[in-house]
Amino acid sequence: MKKIFVTGGSGFIGSNFIIKQIMIDKNAVLNYDLLTYSGNNDNLISIENNYRYKFIKGDVSDYDTLDNALCSFEPDYIVHFAAESHVDRSIDSPSHFIQTNIIGTSVLLRVLKKYYKKNDKIRLLHISTDEVYGSLGPKGYFTEKSSYSPNSPYSATKASSDHLARAWFHTYKLPILITNCSNNYGPFQFPEKLIPLMIANCLDHKPLPIYGNGENIRDWLYVEDHCNAISQVLEYGKIGETYNIGGNNEIKNIDIVTKICSILDELIPIQNKSSYMDLITFVKDRPGHDYRYAIDSSKIQNELNWKPNESFETGIYKTIEWYLENERWWREIQKKYYNQERLGLKGS
Ligand code: NAD
Repeated sequence: MKKIFVTGGSGFIGSNFIIKQIMIDKNAVLNYDLLTYSGNNDNLISIENNYRYKFIKGDVSDYDTLDNALCSFEPDYIVHFAAESHVDRSIDSPSHFIQTNIIGTSVLLRVLKKYYKKNDKIRLLHISTDEVYGSLGPKGYFTEKSSYSPNSPYSATKASSDHLARAWFHTYKLPILITNCSNNYGPFQFPEKLIPLMIANCLDHKPLPIYGNGENIRDWLYVEDHCNAISQVLEYGKIGETYNIGGNNEIKNIDIVTKICSILDELIPIQNKSSYMDLITFVKDRPGHDYRYAIDSSKIQNELNWKPNESFETGIYKTIEWYLENERWWREIQKKYYNQERLGLKGS
């Protein structure tokens, strides 16, 4: 049994990762999370009473609380998910992103430096995004050697945190790994993100807002595939290396939305036989919207024997079914935190 210290484990990817660690891999987890608007311990109800799971509410930028939590748990691995994660919110209030993503990561690295003296077998995996590489034209893929060229406040803060993690490896010889993944989707994703937002708006018969002309392209990674990749990197990744993780699913935003509409047309047809597609509405583009992200994940596939199991066809179907079966989960969020309003237009 491994002991894994997880930051930001009450968010979307973190909670999927923790459930896998507790239920399938039978490891022990301490989840350290501030429970910001996107942190939700309802995600972890299925394992909250498991004796191998513990939760501490804390801020990654609070050195003393983080240090106490980490040193008393004595982990074998650290997985650092905690972040402000939504590009639109980073346009409206970048300072939160600077505080958590940059300062918070730097504090975690300082705590690691101290803990490493007690346990030099520790490994820290810093979870990052393909958005640090900037925007691609119609051809080509991001590799681990692509240069950094972040365009949004979110990606700039993630790029900074990657540089800090890399510097702490080179300078202090700390056992750090980095992963840069594409857009995740699946259960427990906060409904401000494209896929759950579109599902919720369809079910509420609200307009489906498509930024610009909908031609922007992203690669989509099913969250369970991502969690499997994280396990491989934690255990077998080479210290100091970066691994890109993608789902081999490059899709235009407009095609994602029409796919969701056609599945919902089949699963919950609208009474008068019209289509959810009639709700599609083109709206003002996101400022500085990157055109295309695409990942070459051959390094992790070849070196660590990982590959995604879900195609977009299978993953999106499972995701829609999950949101239909777990309507109470996202309705609670709608009531308390977010009611599908447009974000990211302040440009402050
Ligand atoms: P999320 O917003 O759903 O979850 C973030 C979690 O971090 C929440 O539980 C929140 O409470 C916690 N948190 C925020 N500030 C904190 C702080 N100061 N101290 C402690 N906890 C704090 O995000 P997610 O989608 O699960 O993303 C997780 C990580 O993966 C992030 O680092 C993100 O940059 C990265 N990532 C996400 C995607 C994606 O598609 N979701 C893609 C690439 C990379």
